[in-house]
Amino acid sequence: MEPTVHLEAFAIHLVTSNDSPEFTHLNYALTHSSIIGLDAEWKPNRHAPTLPTVSLLQIACRLADSHESPVFLLDLQAIPLPSVYELLREVFLSPDVIKLGFRFKQDLVYLSSTFCEHGCSPGFDSVEPFIDITAIYNYLQPKQAGRRTLKQTKSLATVCKEVLGILLSKELQCSDWSQRPLTEEQKTYAAADAHCLVEIFDVFHAKVVKEGKNSRNKHWPPDFGPGLKQIFEVSNGCNMITRTTFCEASNMIRVTMPELHSSTDTEEVDSIKSDTTTKQVDNSLLWIIRKYGDKIVLKDADGKLKISKKKAKKSSAGSECKQKTHEIVEEWQGPPPWDPSVGGDGCPKFLCDVMVEGLAKHLRCVGIDAAIPYSKKPESRDLIDQAQKEKRVLLTRDAKLLRHEYLIKNQIYRIKNLLKNEQLHEVIETFQLKISEDQLMSRCTKCNGKFIQKPLTTEEAVEAAKGFQVIPNCLFDKNIEFWQCMDCRQLYWEGTQYHNAVQKFIDVCKLN
Ligand SMILES: [Zn+2]
Repeated sequence: MEPTVHLEAFAIHLVTSNDSPEFTHLNYALTHSSIIGLDAEWKPNRHAPTLPTVSLLQIACRLADSHESPVFLLDLQAIPLPSVYELLREVFLSPDVIKLGFRFKQDLVYLSSTFCEHGCSPGFDSVEPFIDITAIYNYLQPKQAGRRTLKQTKSLATVCKEVLGILLSKELQCSDWSQRPLTEEQKTYAAADAHCLVEIFDVFHAKVVKEGKNSRNKHWPPDFGPGLKQIFEVSNGCNMITRTTFCEASNMIRVTMPELHSSTDTEEVDSIKSDTTTKQVDNSLLWIIRKYGDKIVLKDADGKLKISKKKAKKSSAGSECKQKTHEIVEEWQGPPPWDPSVGGDGCPKFLCDVMVEGLAKHLRCVGIDAAIPYSKKPESRDLIDQAQKEKRVLLTRDAKLLRHEYLIKNQIYRIKNLLKNEQLHEVIETFQLKISEDQLMSRCTKCNGKFIQKPLTTEEAVEAAKGFQVIPNCLFDKNIEFWQCMDCRQLYWEGTQYHNAVQKFIDVCKLN
């Protein structure tokens, strides 16, 4: 048995009603914290297509005016959801509160649908500024000499063990979170998952401050004067692959300020708690938000609006791990039309139904040929015809389409996952796609076209862009390479967003 090392003691408050002292405490904590950790627990719902109902929301707060870090367990089965909806929405969107989570997007999808079902429309569609623990973990890794350091996807337990030296028990992950009362072990487990997020953030925060100081940067401590507004404005023109304004602005900051990176020492950590209230740390949090702040935005394709009209019967069967909520109903049989055994050329080709259009973009990003339907509202028949004609596998979330399988054998696959990254992973696994690093960003995300082989110089790009695309002035003196789509002529260029995107797909595709 593994020894369990405990996190530093922290208070746990179970909030079950909106007229309790715990609720007042929660209100206070949420308005006096700059950093909160979020996690949720739910009971999987076996009856597709409804989403699981979240039964517990854990909020770990780092109070700015004391050294306390209480964790609140919001019992969503007991508390009337409309009574906490506004409060949570405000926190999720507050620019002054850094929200931390570990792969929180799925939690948010379920949380949003749970609130929607209780009349709190439109649920929660975004959380910002948000920082994922995986991003923090990657930052804390020693920097390697190479240009691109490979980042890895690790479990929260592993991250905790490596960063904090703490073993998180995972035994209760699969316990029944809808049973009441919750056991003490469940409460401790649930609270620890949220609490460790703020502890990990502390380590990260300390490192950022330390590196800022070490860099002997005359701009440190960072002071965000009127210049930032300009930076935001300029950066808005520099879009390439979708990223947030925060990150774009941070790229610009990186250009305008001397590098902060210095030593790679992850061991030594200054105590951050001791000077939480000083101006310098406030500024360092601002710096962190601007440099590392991301956001989660839910779109319809993420299942946000997939709320069942007929409420699903509560599953009476035992519990499943929250990782395994999507049951495999229809297995892929194969072989796909591109398989050499059926006379194909070995090049995978897909047709993404409108419900998985986001997946089409993701597939293009990793170099896979992914078409979309000719018309905006195609009939089933149109989809079948197109797939057949172009020898593509039709990817859809619509189970009804599978009824047409007899028309095009081995050319329809129903996607099980709701989130784009997971869908991409699902397709790669199901069809055993080989993705190599040089395939990344080799295709136009807009139209599926291939890029012209040779990169363009800035001058050529300016010429090519005339009349239909604006190239931001800020790129001119940077000696950047451009690519042009052979089909739609769209220009792309290498920027930090590009590297972020490449890195993301390296992670998703688990390239090594
Ligand atoms: Zn194109």
